[in-house]
Amino acid sequence: MHELALMAELQRLAEAALRQQGAQRIHRLRLRLGAVAGVDGEALRLAFAVLVSQATDHSPWRGAVLDLETIQARCFCSNCEQPFSPSDVIHACPRCGQLASRLLAGRELELASLEVS
Ligand SMILES: [Zn+2]
Repeated sequence: MHELALMAELQRLAEAALRQQGAQRIHRLRLRLGAVAGVDGEALRLAFAVLVSQATDHSPWRGAVLDLETIQARCFCSNCEQPFSPSDVIHACPRCGQLASRLLAGRELELASLEVS
């Protein structure tokens, strides 16, 4: 389950940002996760819940909240020269049936914002 490793990496990033700002607590972590990023959002939520549940009084993670924003996949058909939103894992154009030549969105995994104090 690579979501655990991912959560550890996000934890490291967030704590570095916390120190940089001279803050003590992480209140809210907002992530943008692409639908086809290859990351299980629910597993990520679970890993975050474990992190917060294990946080002691002195941990910056105590009471922290995770906002997970899912970014839907968006493809581009070079045949129709139009973008489209695929309806399933096979990215076929709804107009002509050709497989998408490019993925415009959906692979994101970004730390969008961090609320600290
Ligand atoms: Zn097409």
